[in-house]
Amino acid sequence: MTKKINFGAGPAKIPEEVMEKAASEFIHFGNTGVSILEMSHRSADFTAIIEETKALLRDLMQIPDNYEVLFMHGGGTGQFAAVPLNLKRDKTSADYLVTGSWSDKAFKEAQKYLDAKRVTPAVKPITRVPPENEWTRDPDAAYLYYCANETIHGIEFFKAPETLPGVPLVADISSTFLSRPFDFTNHGVVLGGTQKNLGAAGLTVAIVRKDLIGHELQITPSVLSYKIAHDNNSVYNTPSVYSIYITNLVLKWIKEKGGAERFAQMNQEKASLIYSIIDDSNDFFYCPIDKEHRSLMNIPFRIGGSNGDDKLEKEFLVRATEKKMIGLKGHRSVGGIRASLYNAITLDETKELAELMKEFQKEKQ
Ligand code: PMP
Repeated sequence: MTKKINFGAGPAKIPEEVMEKAASEFIHFGNTGVSILEMSHRSADFTAIIEETKALLRDLMQIPDNYEVLFMHGGGTGQFAAVPLNLKRDKTSADYLVTGSWSDKAFKEAQKYLDAKRVTPAVKPITRVPPENEWTRDPDAAYLYYCANETIHGIEFFKAPETLPGVPLVADISSTFLSRPFDFTNHGVVLGGTQKNLGAAGLTVAIVRKDLIGHELQITPSVLSYKIAHDNNSVYNTPSVYSIYITNLVLKWIKEKGGAERFAQMNQEKASLIYSIIDDSNDFFYCPIDKEHRSLMNIPFRIGGSNGDDKLEKEFLVRATEKKMIGLKGHRSVGGIRASLYNAITLDETKELAELMKEFQKEKQ
């Protein structure tokens, strides 16, 4: 059976080389005589995998020495609670830049634990990041939270938001992990699930500035405590062993291909190909997002004008499936089409989508 091209938003495509390597050592890992799935998370063999995976991430992301890399549970959603629980300290509020569904979910979860405040007024539909002169930031906030890439809305921050002195930034990079270099300046916590750019679902990475570890609220569940994760080298309880292993392989693959800088170039090229078709289509294809913040990872668009033509969009999806392209249906909350072009998607695969879009427009107009 031929493999399909998976443009899904996550769990997303995993590089072929990684799948093959994982398959080849699925039953016997190295000369251990067991599978990773059967191995104690405290064994020397598995400890070596954890250490290597952290070191690879440190190296590829250029994580400064004053940050710890923690492997946790609960996905991005678990971190929506972990952040206020660990970072509230003696503060009463935290600021949230709500630029799409994921930062909105984080904002709502945080309300359970502190006074979460929106930095900008709620507007619908969300198509841009409001300019900084429209923000209301609190100099006494525990942190300023933002989602580096809104996977559903396709809104990306290419530069971290400006924060006030003493207010650490918290960034959700679930859908931009190593899609480009990341600047840790002013960040307190950088977090994300691995199921898009770093491998399989099940592993959550939290990169936490050391001085912010150890101040969690007493009610913090043990699995969400940065201190407990740190003090126990991320094995306080059984971690997602297989997902850590897959991330290890993905990181080696990213390194082999040239690292974050190289992926930034390739991702720019892939996204530009699709955006140029959208922009040259006379609004046959329509992407509502402000050009300055258009995501390189997730491209949402409508077909048949700005409101989308349901029939045309359905037909496009059928045609894509016939050409073995899947995962292109937009999120149910926004509709339309969404093409996710994570690191594992190649330029050739992107070209196939581009060809289909051009062909489809020619035929329908
Ligand atoms: N943040 C972002 C940016 C996401 O895209 C997602 C999932 N698509 C989440 C958080 C939630 O992650 P999880 O499903 O791992 O809880």
